[in-house]
Amino acid sequence: MGKRPGTACCAGGRLKRASLSTRLIHTRLARLSPATVNPPIERASTVLLPTNDALYGPDPTYGRMGLTVHRELETALCELEGAATAQLAPTGLSACALAIASLTEAGDHVVITDSLYGPTRRFCTRRLAAMGVSVTRVPPRIGAEIIDHIRPETRLIVLESPGSLTFEIMDTPTIVQVAAERGIKTLLDNTWSAGVYHKPLELGVDVSVQALTKYAIGHADAFGGAAMARDEATGAKIVDCARDWGLSLGPEEAYTALRGLRTLPVRLDAHQRAGLILAEWLEGRPEVAEILHPALPSHPDHALWQRDFTGASGLFGVVLTPQSDTALDAFLGALTRFAMGFSWGGYESLLIPCDRQLTRLAGDWTETKAGPLLRVHAGLEDPADLIADLEAAFAHLSA
Ligand SMILES: *Cc1c(COP(=O)(O)O)cnc(C)c1O
Repeated sequence: MGKRPGTACCAGGRLKRASLSTRLIHTRLARLSPATVNPPIERASTVLLPTNDALYGPDPTYGRMGLTVHRELETALCELEGAATAQLAPTGLSACALAIASLTEAGDHVVITDSLYGPTRRFCTRRLAAMGVSVTRVPPRIGAEIIDHIRPETRLIVLESPGSLTFEIMDTPTIVQVAAERGIKTLLDNTWSAGVYHKPLELGVDVSVQALTKYAIGHADAFGGAAMARDEATGAKIVDCARDWGLSLGPEEAYTALRGLRTLPVRLDAHQRAGLILAEWLEGRPEVAEILHPALPSHPDHALWQRDFTGASGLFGVVLTPQSDTALDAFLGALTRFAMGFSWGGYESLLIPCDRQLTRLAGDWTETKAGPLLRVHAGLEDPADLIADLEAAFAHLSA
């Protein structure tokens, strides 16, 4: 231990030169002897301290601040995102809410992208508003024109790239430049890339947030969230806010996330390859109007993705040609390898219809697209089996 909770620092320069896969494995903190590869899961509220000074000392003296496994997870997350600090939270949504709330106060104004994860958007428009913070929603493909939405009291711009459900890539460096020139903080939800294929802090973003629930945990069996800050001062604000709200991540969940991080780059590479195979196959089908996958040259933001990302995860969108509700239901019902369910990032493939989640601004996206919107998560099954499943179910759709 020895580090303040929520303020684990990147491991030393020696590790820095190793590649990400190596660094995610070698972020082990000191162990008791006999040493184990993995940290112990300490199930503790009360921590017993030997002296008065130790009781009120700098090390965690209460389980809510986390123990060994939490410190090791924070260290690995700092390595992953190139961050100065990492603060854990019980869910991805609570990490987003925590990070946004810790950087704003009554009277402030916040700009958010319109394709922000729905519940985070709801937190901003409902909860932030109740806290006296005003919110403006802007289209995700905004660049330098974001200037038109900035006010003297604007304190924070909240980004997500690619956007939830509709997969727009944001011009993050341009937005960061506009923000930095005006002393405005930027925050980016980096769940899609899992921090492996996109490094927002290197692009100048102040805070990168992830739902660990998705790829970090990777097996659809636990919740977790984290907010990583580029500098100590911003990180300290997030840590203080987490203390004030009493947020903590359970030790089993923290362990699960840490275990997931060790294999994250290899798993993500397999999700990426399967996702691309499926997307390319789907693009050639007459039942498909459009594929929303930033790694495909047909994607409108492909050039931005090539500039700012080093890969793609297994999550993408598919717009079908116009379909009746009956045909869509028959197609969904015929799938046997793709299951329907919320969340993603596990080893299993998922496919859900998304139209009921699309609640957007005027000029609604839903008015211009051809047919139903599906979200596909490519799992770790053999892509050939997944294609066979889709091909059989497509018999229910019209071209
Ligand atoms: C799932 C998700 C979240 C929320 O994570 P939970 O752990 O389910 O609360 C936040 N942001 C994005 C982009 C997500 O996909």
